[in-house]
Amino acid sequence: MATLRFKALEDALKRRPVEVKAPGEKTSDYYGLYVFDRIKMEKYLPKDAYKAVVDAVDYGKRIDMKLADQIAMGMKSWALSLGATHYTHWFQPLTESTAEKHDTFAVPTGRGTAIEVFSGELLVQQEPDASSFPSGGIRNTFEARGYTAWDPSSPAFVLEGTLIIPTIFISYTGEALDYKTPLLKALHYLDKAAVEVCQYFDKDVTRVNSNLGWEQEYFLVDEAVFNARPDLVLTDRTLMGHASAKNQQLEDQYFGQIPSRVLAFMKDLEYEAYKLGIPLKTRHNEVAPNQYELAPIYEETNLANDHNLLIMMVMRKVAGRHNFKVLLHEKPFSGINGSGKHNNWSVATNTGVNLLSPGKTPRLNLQFLTFLINTLVAVHKHNALLKASIASPGNQHRLGANEAPPAIISAFLGQQLTKMLDEIENRVTDEKMSPEEKTAIKLDIGKIPEILLDNTDRNRTSPFAFTGNRFEFRAVGSSANCASAMIPLNTALAVQLVDFKTEVDTIIEKGVKKDEAILQVLRRLIKKSKPIRYDGNGYSEEWKVEAAKRGLDCEAIVPLIYDAYLTPQSRELFKRANVYTDIEMEARTEVRHELYSKKIQIEARVLSDLAMNHILPTVIEYQAMLISSTQGLKNLYETSEYNVLSVRRLKLIKEISEHVEIIEDKVSEMIAARKQANTIEDNREKAIVYATVIFPFFDEIRYHIDKLELIVDNEKWPLPKFRELLFIR
Ligand code: ADP
Ligand code: MG
Repeated sequence: MATLRFKALEDALKRRPVEVKAPGEKTSDYYGLYVFDRIKMEKYLPKDAYKAVVDAVDYGKRIDMKLADQIAMGMKSWALSLGATHYTHWFQPLTESTAEKHDTFAVPTGRGTAIEVFSGELLVQQEPDASSFPSGGIRNTFEARGYTAWDPSSPAFVLEGTLIIPTIFISYTGEALDYKTPLLKALHYLDKAAVEVCQYFDKDVTRVNSNLGWEQEYFLVDEAVFNARPDLVLTDRTLMGHASAKNQQLEDQYFGQIPSRVLAFMKDLEYEAYKLGIPLKTRHNEVAPNQYELAPIYEETNLANDHNLLIMMVMRKVAGRHNFKVLLHEKPFSGINGSGKHNNWSVATNTGVNLLSPGKTPRLNLQFLTFLINTLVAVHKHNALLKASIASPGNQHRLGANEAPPAIISAFLGQQLTKMLDEIENRVTDEKMSPEEKTAIKLDIGKIPEILLDNTDRNRTSPFAFTGNRFEFRAVGSSANCASAMIPLNTALAVQLVDFKTEVDTIIEKGVKKDEAILQVLRRLIKKSKPIRYDGNGYSEEWKVEAAKRGLDCEAIVPLIYDAYLTPQSRELFKRANVYTDIEMEARTEVRHELYSKKIQIEARVLSDLAMNHILPTVIEYQAMLISSTQGLKNLYETSEYNVLSVRRLKLIKEISEHVEIIEDKVSEMIAARKQANTIEDNREKAIVYATVIFPFFDEIRYHIDKLELIVDNEKWPLPKFRELLFIR
């Protein structure tokens, strides 16, 4: 019987599902228990203070300091009632995870006792020691410090005995150092711009929200096996490993039965999520072995994003209780699917209308078409920027690799809508339309079914697909902060809506009726944005050729993709919407370039270390064993017989030597190249070298290591293999 090669594997195999006790009988018993939501606010806050929070959330009003004190008092009493001892401002630095620094409520009285203290001042603003968060030089140039400020639109919550207050993070000179600040600005600008356009259709619209429903993909691996892979521990992905004989080719994992250990983890995670008011809805297996997905019901974008960041944090914590590690990396294992985070996105009014959903009447449908077409224009114009917003060292493994984000952004609409847009394009003219023409087009528009059937049969290869009542931005990486993509998307639509309104109003001023003016502009926009529409196979070679002809951005090298942030067009977009100043854009782009180099640098180091200190010593030892056993044959056989017998052995010994030599050479070349790269001062230049010179070494080196994995004695191979990492039972 084959023995297990590692103690870690034995440990992993012995594990049983960890029983999880629900904190109540039904989900509704504990849903939102740990969230300071409106119901709790009403109970814990004086009337005025409660109203101040509601007005801040619903109408963006300022909260004055006296009321902030009352809110802080109420929040404290509520948090203490749940056993909280500490509070923290929780923010989203540019590292793609969240940051927090806990302070205790307890203040010594000086008489040997302590009391719990919390004030409006502490609630509203704090100064973390921010000097070690990436800022792209903003803080050095302007101010040494940054501060966090309360975001009342995302409710505070208690997690593991700490009151957590969602905040923005900005420098003293006002530059955003985080993801939340620009997101809130983008959403605010979209609200204003969209309300103005909605006024053409319905005077009751006073507020427009952007909605986000993310689908989080992830891998689980057993903690013991994970810890036996330094590459997973240090880079969140495997840098080597031959494909397992069986991986995803039988397609038996997707929607298959969830293993009991994993199900126990999921249940536990759901309990935690529900207590925190995260509206998780679905859980299922994904395509690759050990790959899973969870998705909530969509929420307003800022809150949805906070919930996504929170769930990523909670997933890691809960996984520990089940002896799992969660991998949120976009490509933990080569040869099988990577992980994304589809961002389902729509915009909706305070009157309950989803502006990206066809309605019951021609009027609602014209409004729907207005938002749909303006979205297409925005995505077309800013396709390079949107790609930059999802590009990262992790996601580059998926970009253009036959996985949801091709390295080209296009939009899928489906047959019915394509036909509708064609009809508007062909029927509407700039001439005055006859009453018959108007009736005909009105009838057409009225005929758009409320549920677009052909969109249920979706095109999975499109990075930005219309799915009946929303767009699904599929290119977002699994570890990303969704705000990175949501900021340009919402901003681009908002600015486009402003331009649209200006154009329509100009035509109306010339005496053209409103609906006709809208149709005329829409017709022009349909034509203009046509190059972004593509319903074919986004992974095909033809598309790459066609997309280039259409003038879409086809850049595939991540640091060069980031250049889209600094084009005059992108700068203007963000300035108009008051989302980013030039300085902020430059600083952020610098941070991205810097992070890119650092990540690849770490991977390069780990790869060298594994190759030289783990793989090669094992291989050489195995080869030595082969050599001595071959020499042994020499003593046993006649020379003529030996010469025949040893041919294969010698070939194998030579083959090993060849792989070893290439690995040694490539590793030293890579180290030399890295040293060279590190002398480059400019962050962009350095990142380009890391992407184009260092990164290509990874595949070359691993190719030879993976070949050796197939040669060397299984018992001796020093790392858990893919088959040992990937099949949880
Ligand atoms: P899929 O079939 O794409 O896997 P899921 O049901 O897993 O779909 O997830 C779809 C996500 O889209 C959910 O988060 C859902 O709440 C969200 N969603 C549904 N309608 C809208 C909408 N109008 N706007 C934004 N998100 C939406
Ligand atoms: Mg989806």
